[in-house]
Amino acid sequence: MIKFLDLHKINARDNTKIMEAIKRVVDSGWYLRGEEVLNFEDEFARYCGVKRCIGVANGLDALRLIFKAYLVLGKLEEGDEVIVPANTFIASILGITENKLKPILVEPDLFTYNLDDSLIEKSIGPKTKAILIVHLYGQNAMTAKLKDIAKKYDLLIVEDSAQAHGSKYENKKAGNLGDASGFSFYPGKNLGALGDAGAVTTNDMILAETIRSLANYGSKEKYRFDFQGINSRMDEIQAAILRVKLKRIDKDIERRRNIARIYLNDMKNEHLVLPQCLQHDGHVWHLFVIRSRNRGAFQEYLKNEGIESMIHYPVPPHHQKAFPTLNKLNFPITEKIHQEVLSLPMSPVLHNTEIIRIVEAVNKWN
Ligand SMILES: *Cc1c(COP(=O)(O)O)cnc(C)c1O
Repeated sequence: MIKFLDLHKINARDNTKIMEAIKRVVDSGWYLRGEEVLNFEDEFARYCGVKRCIGVANGLDALRLIFKAYLVLGKLEEGDEVIVPANTFIASILGITENKLKPILVEPDLFTYNLDDSLIEKSIGPKTKAILIVHLYGQNAMTAKLKDIAKKYDLLIVEDSAQAHGSKYENKKAGNLGDASGFSFYPGKNLGALGDAGAVTTNDMILAETIRSLANYGSKEKYRFDFQGINSRMDEIQAAILRVKLKRIDKDIERRRNIARIYLNDMKNEHLVLPQCLQHDGHVWHLFVIRSRNRGAFQEYLKNEGIESMIHYPVPPHHQKAFPTLNKLNFPITEKIHQEVLSLPMSPVLHNTEIIRIVEAVNKWN
């Protein structure tokens, strides 16, 4: 079976260094809010080209802390509206709703799967204060038009960069394209920890300081609490591991791009829609997502060919029980995407022979 994602194989490449990193933390006797996190924050900020990075417990917390900080700073108020793509992972929406802000779902483009910038303006009302862009599947979602609209209506741009570490727009990386950005280092992401971890990046020093405090019970000074915060900290072991893995990310992205190039060149099947890459350095291929009108049968066929695939995601947020107030809404493009998408194996440890087998299997299907 060709695995969809072989995490063991991915991390085995750094086995010795990861073991050394873990040992260093265990031996230090210091497990939270220490040198490893501070160093990782510096290194990741430099990688993204931003002034500040704050390590937090996971990607959802990164997003919810950004919005919480804007509430605390008075840039947002409860009930304000945030524009967000309708076809995103649930966490993007939860980052908004957990802060009693209102998500305004907007359809994506059917071919990039990112927010359709021609639909944003008509979704803006007097309470609209921010756009949460999601660089879905690894493709950068920033556009010139989106920037213009944000400027015209004075909207904050928040990035959900959970799937897009290193993806660029006009030579700037995800994490440095808006007012603030949330990252996830969930094990399966392009930069993955060996457990949960996340980060916020921003060039706004006041926002950074507020998030640092909010993520630590709302405290800047020990046992003094300025805000009603939460506990969301990256731990030292995950930071030490991420420092090892960060060294590899650009090489890994290049490998993903090579695999995507082979898939795009060699896959020929009129029943399938292949993904579109707008800009070579804009896509980091977290996922290689094709569409099929007959997805169930295609996935079953691949399984019989010994190829594992996944669906990102089977049910759109507005059809989830968790959001009864969204259930009556209709988003035909989003619904079509959720019915048809299938993610093929994509990872830097995929072997050339596996790539060939996958291409052959895809081409044979009818
Ligand atoms: C993974 C992911 C998140 C959430 O990250 P966690 O670390 O799992 O909390 C948020 N948004 C998107 C688009 C994601 O893919």
